[in-house]
Amino acid sequence: MRVTTAFNRLLRLDGVNVTNVVFGITTITVTVALRRRRLHCPHCDHKTRWRYDTRPCPSTWRHLDLGVWRVQLQATLRRLSCPTHGVVVEAVPFARPGAHLTRDFDDLLAWLATRMDKTSIARLCRVSWRTVGRACARVVATELDPGRLDGLFRIGVDEISWRRHHKYLTLVVDHDRGVVIWGAQGRDAATLDGFFDELGEARAAQIQAVSLDLGPAFLKSVQAPGHAPQAVVCADPFHVVKLVGDALDEVRRDLWQNLRRLPDDRWARDFKGSRWALLKNPEDLTDTQAAQLARIRRNRGGIWRAYEMKEQFRAIFAGDLTRTEAAVLLDRWCARAQRSRLAPFVKAAKTMRQRRDLILNAIEHGISNGRVEGLNTKVRLIVRRAYGFHTADAALALVMLGAGPIDLKLPHERPAAQAAA
Ligand SMILES: [Zn+2]
Repeated sequence: MRVTTAFNRLLRLDGVNVTNVVFGITTITVTVALRRRRLHCPHCDHKTRWRYDTRPCPSTWRHLDLGVWRVQLQATLRRLSCPTHGVVVEAVPFARPGAHLTRDFDDLLAWLATRMDKTSIARLCRVSWRTVGRACARVVATELDPGRLDGLFRIGVDEISWRRHHKYLTLVVDHDRGVVIWGAQGRDAATLDGFFDELGEARAAQIQAVSLDLGPAFLKSVQAPGHAPQAVVCADPFHVVKLVGDALDEVRRDLWQNLRRLPDDRWARDFKGSRWALLKNPEDLTDTQAAQLARIRRNRGGIWRAYEMKEQFRAIFAGDLTRTEAAVLLDRWCARAQRSRLAPFVKAAKTMRQRRDLILNAIEHGISNGRVEGLNTKVRLIVRRAYGFHTADAALALVMLGAGPIDLKLPHERPAAQAAA
């Protein structure tokens, strides 16, 4: 078998023939030639036989490694004149437009980015984290399900900070499918207007319920004419439940400060590090945390009452209550919190009374906390990893890859291209 034939089989690239293979010190450089005669515009369907010119230097792409060898593809490309896009370099079937990596390598990096920390990816694949960010953005630009904005009935809008220095992303979630379907940089009414512009009036008119974190900006956009003024506005359960979690944390901090001042440090020692034992959902506790929680329970006191109130509140959003049942429980909870003599809970009860209708709307429209919380936790983990990216687009792309409507395939999971002879 000739070496070029062997590389045709090994690399399994669409639409090209291997014409030459050169082994360097660490890199194998593989020259390929496009099999098709016609030139394709990389940005649209335009095809032509007419060549504008040929680029003087070959273009190169990094491909999947072969063992310890890096593989670099090289091809001489032509330029064409597209009636819409002007003079552009022709598209190649094995790489996305403008990329210096092949489609296979992009896909591998995007898949890894949602599952592996950045140091590991950079070392394994010998690429910078920013290269990973660009690969993610390209994959999302081409592979996102085009029907993701169809059939939306219950959506949620949330903001999340990415990087320090107050940079924010606005995300729109489809509660029914449990995925992020849209995102943009910023967090004001105009940011969300962008979503409704893309959605269009017909699809927006189908939306029945929108959950919000209840800042004024998003509400203004939702209720604008042509957007979704018909939709019932709900309190986002994640934020509401978090409010109670924050109240519990305040009670815990106060207690900790008091214990530390005691002459006997035994109490403080026992209580130390109890934060997660109290704040995590009981089903997620480690054995040590569960033991710590049991100790707090034996000692009772204000902190245990606060913990019980947090769990009772969470149960209201479990998703199995009618509006009437939830209303009874919510009112009972507010009354209990107000009598609790725990200042943070008195305050939380006041907020809940103000938002009572919006909380009950969420329950009536089946926006339960379990699902919202799961997705939120996932998104927050992903966004923390995106801190190293340079642009909001790359951070958004990672969110879409990890929590959006994309079915990412690895190179070997795709059907094999026509084997080149
Ligand atoms: Zn074009």
